This record gives sequence, structure tokens and C-alpha cells, in this order.
Amino acid sequence: MSSLQELYDEIVACRRCPRLVAWREEVGRKKRLAYINDEYWARPVPGFGDPKARILIFGLAPGAHGSNRTGRMFTGDASGNFLFPALWRAGLASRPQATGRDDGLELRGVYITAAVRCVPPKNKPTREEFAACSYWTARELALLPDVRVYLALGRLAHEALLEHHRLVKRRFPFAHGAEHALPNGLTLLDSYHVSRQNTQTGKLNEEMFDAVLARAKALAGIS
Ligand code: SF4
Repeated sequence: MSSLQELYDEIVACRRCPRLVAWREEVGRKKRLAYINDEYWARPVPGFGDPKARILIFGLAPGAHGSNRTGRMFTGDASGNFLFPALWRAGLASRPQATGRDDGLELRGVYITAAVRCVPPKNKPTREEFAACSYWTARELALLPDVRVYLALGRLAHEALLEHHRLVKRRFPFAHGAEHALPNGLTLLDSYHVSRQNTQTGKLNEEMFDAVLARAKALAGIS
């Protein structure tokens, strides 16, 4: 069995999805003006966090100018600027800011990954791309034996996890705050995604997300 580091090295070399390989590299070449001097990661973004994690945070896919730029999940964009302070308030992160792969941030009891590890055009992976990247999800989960709770960020992440476990979606409907007991003994907990679109419109606020994290900790037995 490989280690998380060995898996990380395999993931960042993945080129299974031609459309996403082309897109992640194009975004990295064109860049956003604010980051014009940055060297974009422009590769698959592997998960990161505590190898003994009891909570697995499952997102959708890298942000074009966030993790596709920095190379670490949720790092460097508005979603991360909402997520990491919340993890820090909950005692699950060593610091509230996430700026780059070498910023010293450590997660405690939490591992963060996503259904699709390359940035998709318009944030919309295809069915085939979800299926292809599910291979890496299986490999990652196999190396995280202590996970008790999946925290899905958004409906698409929720459905990708159900597909991954070959579960019928209508039996486990997505709703913010919903909890689903899965046949594998884990709990799937849902939250609206931490995207700017949700946090700026008030669909998801700090109080709501703090409550979800508190529930995830309770379900995972983290005090
Ligand atoms: Fe590989 Fe996943 Fe990226 Fe597709 S989305 S190229 S499977 S890492």
C-alpha cells in the first residue's frame, strides 16, 4: 500500500481527463491580472490534512485562480477565506489564513479533498470526469482509515460521494445540515458550498457553517 505522499505524487502527474488537462494549463498560462507574477500550479490538486483525520471535507473541484494557482485545496481564493477561519474557530486548523502550500497551516482531525482534482471550465465537470477522478478518491479514502464523517460542500460533492459508494441519490437527499447514515457506518453531513456566491449572498453565513462544523466534530467524537 502506498503512503499519502506517494499517492500525492501519483495524483499530481495524472492526465486522465484531456479536457481538464488542457483547461488547467490554459488557466495557468493566461492567469488573472491580480496574480500575473505568480507561477500557477496548473496540475491536479491532491488532498491535504491530518492522516488521522476523522472528518473528511469533500469539495467539488479546484478554483481556477485559487487552488489551481497555489496547488493546495481551497487555498488562495474566497472559498478558502471563508473555510479556513471557520476551521480555525472550531479548533481544526492551526491558523485562520491559508495563502500557499508553504504557509505552515496544519489541520487537526480533518482532511480536505474534492470530487475532481483539476479545475473544470465553468466549474462543471462532466460525468466522465467525475467517474475518472473517483479512482483517486478511492485511493485517498483507503489511506484515511479513521474517517467517520464526510462533510460534503454542496450538492455536487454530496452526489459525487453517493456515486462513489454506488448509493441511490433519492434515498439520501441533499439539504444544508442534513445527516445521512451510510451503509459503511460513516455519516454524510451536508453543507452549502463555501463559495463566494453563497457566502456573499448570505445563503451560507459564519454562524451556519460553525454549527455544521460543531456537528461534524460531535459525530466524529472530536472534543
Ligand atoms: Fe486526473 Fe482527476 Fe485531473 Fe481527471 S480530474 S486528470 S482523473 S486528477
